Amino acid sequence: MAKSILVIGEIKGGGLRKTTLEGLTAARAIASVTQGDILAALVGSGIDAAAATLAKHGASAVLQVDDPAYEKYSSEAYTEAVVRLAREREAGVVILGDTSLGKDLAPAIAVRLDAALATDVVQIEAQADGFLKVVHPIYTGKLNAEYVLQKKAVQVVTLRPNLFAAAAEDGKTARIDKLAWKPTKPARAVVREAVATSTGQVELTEAAIIVSGGRSLKSAENFALLDELAQVLGGAVGASRAAVDAGYQPHSRQVGQTGKVVNPSLYIACGISGAIQHLVGMRTSKVIVAINKDANAPIFQSADYGVVGDLFEVVPVLTQEFKQLLGK
Ligand SMILES: Cc1cc2nc3c(=O)[nH]c(=O)nc-3n(C[C@H](O)[C@H](O)[C@H](O)COP(=O)(O)OP(=O)(O)OC[C@H]3O[C@@H](n4cnc5c(N)ncnc54)[C@H](O)[C@@H]3O)c2cc1C
Repeated sequence: MAKSILVIGEIKGGGLRKTTLEGLTAARAIASVTQGDILAALVGSGIDAAAATLAKHGASAVLQVDDPAYEKYSSEAYTEAVVRLAREREAGVVILGDTSLGKDLAPAIAVRLDAALATDVVQIEAQADGFLKVVHPIYTGKLNAEYVLQKKAVQVVTLRPNLFAAAAEDGKTARIDKLAWKPTKPARAVVREAVATSTGQVELTEAAIIVSGGRSLKSAENFALLDELAQVLGGAVGASRAAVDAGYQPHSRQVGQTGKVVNPSLYIACGISGAIQHLVGMRTSKVIVAINKDANAPIFQSADYGVVGDLFEVVPVLTQEFKQLLGK
């Protein structure tokens, strides 16, 4: 029998993270070649609602590991649970999002399962023999490297968020297996408190639209211009490192090499020069619009559309136009 494809879901604020459903899309593509059973797993505490939602998106079963001991993320406890899931359910492929949790968990489970590991995967394809062919950007995104994972019984991958479509509901409800597991050992490191740094806006790595600003905004207050445009478009606000270093925005909004890697459908860069360290965080955006008063700014080389002009004049006009167009 073909080995199963195990998608490790993530919960944020009680709901499923979009990366979970993106993982299911990748799982379906793999299953169409390997005929493997798609299993979706959630580890947490009090997660009935999230498991019920997950059951509607194409997995044949949802594995719910639910215990107060898993309320806060613990590398050791989650690793143990996922490794046990992968072993007991005979997973050939384990899929996670390339999120903070996925980045932490994937290597830990891969080493225990003696698995092949590919992180930050932007393309994935199952070959006829079941081994995965994946694309992973290297040299800060200047090159895409293609790898074939092989000679291992288990393959673990983390998928870059926002590149794969989220799996839609399939009109069925999968069986939910509730597993009354507990960590077998006390954790050596414990998360005492998780403090949210973002201000209620859509998580940057999951936003479909991002309006980003640079040093040229000149103050934290002036970012209100971008907040308004982002709000009209239903997007999130990002920033260059220069804007973050100047204290205009929190680091959680920084896009780039030392910030977040984002893949929105639309990225509007306002007064951002386009340094390589910024580009590496946003150049896979589907459509890039640059507003810059310097016609020679490097950002224009990466932009699909460019406006040469003063952002303090251009952005309010864009906001007004979108308000009218969208009836807001
Ligand atoms: C190791 C390392 C890691 C780094 N990591 C990151 C990272 O993660 N993210 C990141 O962004 N950077 C990063 N940087 C910094 C990066 O090299 C740049 O310094 C930074 O991106 C510049 O930010 P900026 O475009 O806002 O500012 P600037 O380079 O100062 O550019 C400002 C731009 O705004 C334009 N402008 C000015 N006024 C207006 C106006 N009124 N209207 C329209 N346009 C205007 C100017 O023409 C200019 O192009 C890193 C650097 C290093 C060395």
